[in-house]
This record gives sequence, C-alpha cells and structure tokens, in this order.
Amino acid sequence: MGLECIQFCGSPGGEVVQKTFVHPELAVDEVAVKVTHSGLCGTDLHYVTTDMVLGHEAIGVVHSIGSDVSSVKVGDRVGWGYPNWTCGKCEWCLRGEDNYCPNWKIYGMADLEQGSLSSLSVRKEQWLFKIPESMSSEDAAPLMCGGSTVWTPLVNHVKPYHRVGIVGIGGLGHLAIQFAAKMGVEVVVFSATESKRDEALRLGAKEFYATKDVDDYSTLGVIKQIDRLMICTSSKVNLASFYPLLNPQAMIFPLTASDGELTVPYFATIRNGLSISGTVIATRFMQKKALEFAARNSVHVIAEKFPMTLDGVRAAMARLKEGKMRYRAVLSWE
Ligand SMILES: [Zn+2]
Ligand SMILES: [Zn+2]
Repeated sequence: MGLECIQFCGSPGGEVVQKTFVHPELAVDEVAVKVTHSGLCGTDLHYVTTDMVLGHEAIGVVHSIGSDVSSVKVGDRVGWGYPNWTCGKCEWCLRGEDNYCPNWKIYGMADLEQGSLSSLSVRKEQWLFKIPESMSSEDAAPLMCGGSTVWTPLVNHVKPYHRVGIVGIGGLGHLAIQFAAKMGVEVVVFSATESKRDEALRLGAKEFYATKDVDDYSTLGVIKQIDRLMICTSSKVNLASFYPLLNPQAMIFPLTASDGELTVPYFATIRNGLSISGTVIATRFMQKKALEFAARNSVHVIAEKFPMTLDGVRAAMARLKEGKMRYRAVLSWE
C-alpha cells in the first residue's frame, strides 16, 4: 500500500507545479514524514526549472517507519535539511565531517521526489533530527539549512573575544546576528541601507553600518577592526572593500550559494594572513547542537508565513526572487 501525497515541483518553464505522487513502500531504513512546515531557501530558486520536489527546510511528524528504524518513532516531530544520506564509510564520514561525504545524496542531486514542499516525504532515518520541544516548528524549519549554514563557521572559528562582521540581513544574516550575539561576541552589521538598522540592533548587533554609495569603507566609522566576516547577502560583494576593516588573520566566510568568481586583492591577503574559507551546511552533530542552542537561547526566525498551496508556494518564490523577503518564508499546512 503506497502513501499518496501532494507535491510542489519545479518545471522546465520555471513555474512551480502541483502534482500527486504515491511513494513506494518504505525501505527498512526509511521514515515517512507528514510535512507540517517548510522554509524556503535561496537554493530552492536554483532548482525551480528542474522537475523535482522543491524545499529542504522541513519540519513534520513521523507517520510510519521502516523495520530497522530505531532513532525516531511514529508521532515524533522531526526536521531535515539538504542531505538525505551519507555513506558512513568514507574518511569524511569517519572524521565526523559527514557534510563533506563525497558519496552523499542531497537535495537537487538525488531523491528528487523527497522535497519538503509536499504533504509527505520519505526520508532516510540517518539525517532526520528531533526538534526540541520548546521550539516552534516555524522557528525550527529555517534552522535546517539557513541556520545550520551560519552556525557552523561561528562554532568552528569564532572566539569569545572576536568581533564578527555580518554582511547582509536576510534569511541567513538575521539568524547569524542572533547566533553570534547569543554566543557573546561583538556583532557588527553591514547592510546596504539604513532600513534594517533597528531590526539588526534589536537582534543583538552592537554596531550597524550602511554601505550603499560608500566607496571607501575606512570612512564608515567602524570603531575597531573585525576578526571574522560572514557574507550573508545574495548580492555581489566586493570583498576588497572590507579589507581596510579586517584585523590580521581575519577569516572571511562566503555563505550564500552564489555563482561566478570570488576575487580578492592578492598581496593584501598574504600580507595580513587573511583566509577566505568555504563552509557548507552542518554535520549531523552540528545540526543537532544548532537546534539545541537555538532552543536554549531563544533564537527566533522572523518569518513571512505562506500557506502550503500552489498559490502560496508561487507567491513565496516570487517574493524571494525579488529579494523582498523579511527574512525567511515559512510555508505551512496548518
Ligand atoms: Zn538551503
Ligand atoms: Zn561518506
């Protein structure tokens, strides 16, 4: 007996379409999850022309489980993000850095009928996460990709005495400000205009600088150099502009999934011992810790809510594409 569901999919013309689908019987390590909420991430826009179920910031309730599943049970509230499966055997999995497993099956590349913009999805047990009881599903959904993306470099590379610069206040940036501030570091926000100043300060930023029309960032009035810079905007950033504001050995983390080239001044990078570091989502361990930290420290998503309907999904996609979302769309069946 299959499991029938409704799905919202990309299509070659770039329009989101609604389909019905019947999942085959569960494999022994699979879990059927009734989706309740889904965030919408910038990378979902990249797949809108692909015939696949969209969405990878999911929260739902376990509907049924395969015979070998032991870490979740029917009725549990769970979430998932980009990966569905990692091999558990390669060196990266053995190191606990399973977010770099070369054999992984992830959103957009495998299991194309298992996205979160649906009424039910069948997932591997391995990459499902239980959601802390005190956390709302609306707060939890965007932590499954956007939140874990900003959490990982903060935990891996930020010391309590660092000054952390966050460039752009959107789906990633508004979470990065909260995570960093609640870790106790000084948060310095850069945004194009003044329009998000109050929000940034309310979320925990100590300083705010509007960069639009400023050619020389050393004139912004930043009071002390910055140690870590997190690029959270999907607009093109000229990294060289930030160089006068960086301490020696500063690290720069480009976090939004963008195309094109990343160029930096050659000699100044060497002279000041700067690093530009890629980083992608979170390991399973880090994802779990991000959820626990966010629950304990009241990290809240600022969400625009949309119904999980064809119109709702299309409207959310359009708004995200226009760059108008404040700050993350959360679609819901409720
Ligand atoms: Zn994402
Ligand atoms: Zn592996």
